[in-house]
Amino acid sequence: MSLQDDLWSRAQHALPGGVSSPVRAFQAVDGDPIFYREASGAHFEDLDGKRYLDFVMSWGPMILGHAHPTVVETVQAAVTRGMSYGAPCEDEVKLAEKVRDWHPAVEKLRFVSSGTEAVMSAIRLARGATGRDRILKFSGCYHGHSDALLVAAGSGLVTFGEPASAGVPADFTHLTSVLPLDDDAALEAFFADKGGELAVAVIEPLPANNGLLVQRKAFLEKLRALTEEHGALLLFDEVISGFRLGKGGASEAYEITPDLVTFGKIMGGGMPVGAFGGSVALMDQLAPLGPVYQAGTLSGNPVAMAAGLATLQVLEEQDAYQRLESLGQRLEQGLAEASEGRQLPFRLVRVASLFWLAPLGTDAVRSAEALPADFGEAYRPIHSALLAQGIYLAPSAYEVGFLSTAHQEEDVDRLVSALASFAR
Ligand SMILES: *Cc1c(COP(=O)(O)O)cnc(C)c1O
Repeated sequence: MSLQDDLWSRAQHALPGGVSSPVRAFQAVDGDPIFYREASGAHFEDLDGKRYLDFVMSWGPMILGHAHPTVVETVQAAVTRGMSYGAPCEDEVKLAEKVRDWHPAVEKLRFVSSGTEAVMSAIRLARGATGRDRILKFSGCYHGHSDALLVAAGSGLVTFGEPASAGVPADFTHLTSVLPLDDDAALEAFFADKGGELAVAVIEPLPANNGLLVQRKAFLEKLRALTEEHGALLLFDEVISGFRLGKGGASEAYEITPDLVTFGKIMGGGMPVGAFGGSVALMDQLAPLGPVYQAGTLSGNPVAMAAGLATLQVLEEQDAYQRLESLGQRLEQGLAEASEGRQLPFRLVRVASLFWLAPLGTDAVRSAEALPADFGEAYRPIHSALLAQGIYLAPSAYEVGFLSTAHQEEDVDRLVSALASFAR
């Protein structure tokens, strides 16, 4: 029995599903999850020493690649100064200042320890600041696993949400309305009916958790205009797009400034970090200055702050966004050329260093509802074929791929030729 097989069988006895987060369990693809033994740059090794080219990159945080030397050195130095203070530290202020300089929506920032916490807390702030209870989300967007957001669209048009998980009380979800993405008429109808009771509309401006559902700028602009008109706030959940599309995330890319923004993933450079930010007037509603309570023992953790700050500094020094865009273009062009002779079984959607293998026969897919139901099945053999060649794509058709500055041209070319030869 391999070390990998042995640990997987132990894991299934010790952890529900053998994992600490469900998508890792490989239920949507064939085979067993891979245990990383170590990771460096764009590659990792499993327990048995098999080497893989990684396009998951911890689901986004590792934009500089695994174990980037500058980040590792900075974290090592930080650890020797103490792992947690429960008190403010210098890097926390520096990281907040940097994000304020980079992101158009941020004047002040509050740190938490995950993306889930960031969105959950930003929503409490929005409710406290507006004195309203209703929130609006869009199906196909993911905002972490807090109760108010684990909500699916109910039956009927513009209706109340229903729990998307056991254990979420229906009473909680009645305050969450769910609309389809890319539907101007539904948006207008909702605001005409419920705009006056809405605290906040939350959206991934570049939805990247149910495929890559690139939105029309006009749809996002309409959402901005309607929230403003009805005295509601707009929250851009930039946990993936933040520091990924550029210094100012999707807000800068779309030239739309939300009232609140949430971060995670890249901001911690691989350590557990989240944050939410907005104007001084809004953020000062938080305790200890204002009436909205929010706290965390490990919030602003010195090691995590050091990792995040080092990551943003390296991104800046390396002119990383240009590099990432050129890698993304190479992937796009490579697949376009590969598809000239033969039909690929998918269509590539790519924005900056994010990519997704979208179903064939669909034009731009902009909403979860536009995805064919059986689309996950077509992905299984692609995933297995690439895994056999040592190329690790996300173990679900609905997850996007991530490029990092550690990926080389030849790594992208390897992905292109593996996908092209699968089509043969
Ligand atoms: C990952 C993600 C979250 C949740 O972050 P966690 O750190 O996993 O809690 C929230 N929103 C978006 C857009 C995400 O991609």
